[in-house]
Amino acid sequence: MQAETEDPSTEPEVTPGLVDKYGRVATDLRISVTDRCNFRCTYCMPAEGIAWKPHDEILSFEEITRLVKIFVELGVKKVRVTGGEPLVRRDIESLVAMLTEIPVPELAMTTNASKLRQKAGALADAGLQRINVSLDSLRRERFEVIARFDGLDRVLDGLDAASEVGLDPIKVNCVVMRGVNDDELIDFAEFSRKTGFHIRFIEFMPLDGDSAWKKSNVVSLDEIVETISARYPLVEGDRRGPAAEYAFADQAPGSVGVIASVTRPFCESCNRVRLTAEGQMLACLFALEDTDLRSLLRSGASDSTIAEAIRGTVAAKWAGHAIGNKEFTRPTRSMSMIGG
Ligand code: SAM
Ligand code: SF4
Repeated sequence: MQAETEDPSTEPEVTPGLVDKYGRVATDLRISVTDRCNFRCTYCMPAEGIAWKPHDEILSFEEITRLVKIFVELGVKKVRVTGGEPLVRRDIESLVAMLTEIPVPELAMTTNASKLRQKAGALADAGLQRINVSLDSLRRERFEVIARFDGLDRVLDGLDAASEVGLDPIKVNCVVMRGVNDDELIDFAEFSRKTGFHIRFIEFMPLDGDSAWKKSNVVSLDEIVETISARYPLVEGDRRGPAAEYAFADQAPGSVGVIASVTRPFCESCNRVRLTAEGQMLACLFALEDTDLRSLLRSGASDSTIAEAIRGTVAAKWAGHAIGNKEFTRPTRSMSMIGG
């Protein structure tokens, strides 16, 4: 951990709460712990991958923990460890244990689950509570085309491992793309009913490695809900967070959620902020500006100076993104770099 070199008596007093100029309060922090990944999902990375950052440019576990402690003191309640692929970062369970110690009120992870069978027990022991697993097809060959990795069996086995060690809830994230996997909506609903895992369909967003995004390839919330309801009637639940949530009307296990960032943006109530693997803070997934917290950490800044930088980034958060409109500017980073 870096030494603190500033005189604490000259520091501004820190009051809790990360409020922006529209009155939204940031309580959800997503951290990309690595830019690396063993998959190359077509909507996230180019086939050849991206040039990985050298290790010394990536935040250490101690640096991440120090920042998370400051974020929690400022009012963050939920921390999601993501990437890139968090399970390819060596000894990731140690980071989970360090974050559990802070403590973080709610600690979650998003993973492609290809290494979850090996890691689930250690993660649960370290204090991980809940997990989201990305799974875009239940058909082996199609899975391989999308992820550019023949890994369906490993992912399904990873989901079983998460269930065996008691991670709860288990959510399955599926990015729906027209003409690619939109014929599997019913299969995913049946998978949810059978396993009790919560399926979260994500509208395809313009953050793809291959730049194939077109609005016409986005399968909307309305279309997803209509298709599933025609076979398995759905009952809309309370909207908590960005996902529209639906239970099965016949009270079968599982549920369906849709994250409709494109057709029903949740910017007005967005409570999220992000930290890249290199320590840049973003107030929005699509933000074009970032705040370099790593430089502050590595130049000996005090906690309250870092807290002020975090506050300033939240305060300056824009009203929202404009996906689909002509003024929308695609971020230069893919989701694997920003942390999904
Ligand atoms: N590697 C882990 C995984 O795949 O779960 C964590 C990182 S991944 C970037 C986090 C989430 O972002 C995944 O659920 C993925 O499906 C989603 N994602 C990535 N690119 C996306 C895009 N262009 N549109 C919608 N979701 C995207
Ligand atoms: Fe890797 Fe996740 Fe991106 Fe797929 S979505 S390439 S698993 S980081």
